[in-house]
Amino acid sequence: MLTDYHVHLRPDDAGTPASEYFTQANADRYRAVAEQRGIAELGVSEHIHRFEQALDVWDHPFWRTSATDDLDAYCEFVRERTDLRLGIEADFVPGREDRMATLLDAREWDYVVGSVHFLRDAAVDMRGDWDVWRSGDPDRVWVRYFETLGEAARTGMFDILAHPDLVKVWGGEAPRPEGDLRRFYELAIDGIAESGVTIEVSTAGLRKPVAEIYPAPAFLELCLEVGCPVTLSSDAHVPEHLGHEYERAVDWLSGLGVTELAVFEGRQRRLEPIG
Ligand SMILES: [Zn+2]
Ligand SMILES: [Zn+2]
Repeated sequence: MLTDYHVHLRPDDAGTPASEYFTQANADRYRAVAEQRGIAELGVSEHIHRFEQALDVWDHPFWRTSATDDLDAYCEFVRERTDLRLGIEADFVPGREDRMATLLDAREWDYVVGSVHFLRDAAVDMRGDWDVWRSGDPDRVWVRYFETLGEAARTGMFDILAHPDLVKVWGGEAPRPEGDLRRFYELAIDGIAESGVTIEVSTAGLRKPVAEIYPAPAFLELCLEVGCPVTLSSDAHVPEHLGHEYERAVDWLSGLGVTELAVFEGRQRRLEPIG
């Protein structure tokens, strides 16, 4: 069994309205590519910041410009008009846990993917006004990122921890700490261990400047040591990216002794052998 759960039905660019992408024909395109690539468990997890209801949680200027769609219409579309699992990619916004929980608990997800994209108002993976790297000292940014990731896990609000070392996204195009990076991973590991959250292995990093799978081998090894189950995703924003470089990821996982993947339904997790 192969999974792809961290999937977006549309690119992040402007001019990609729900009306054009939340259609049965588009869902069918994703399903067809998934079938070709042997991915039986397929789900979607749209960015929460694209929905009006997200502004009840946080009013970051980037969210204010993005929040144009209706979250319940998305849920209804996926449930009524597709055979896809229903997920959401939700940010961890420190201090807004209650508001996020209220939003999430009101809807019947198959799974919630939790992400750390922001450190306070600064984004780790976005160029422009919000780029943390405009002034970031790499050691400080990495410390804050991994502390925040551990806190995100500890909230228990998320089933899956997305792209766990996203902070590396720019590779050599952003400042990067020197030496053994485990000193950063260790800042997150207690929260991860206590929460029992599922760790996402994401091939999306292979399409980014860093050109590596998320998470780094040394980080995944720490997560496996504390007993985390693993889910496999591509973070596709177009059908062609579904299952991107999965052969490489599956080989890597089998080399680490990972033989099962986490599968979700109604926020219940079970483990299935990797197909
Ligand atoms: Zn993300
Ligand atoms: Zn995503």
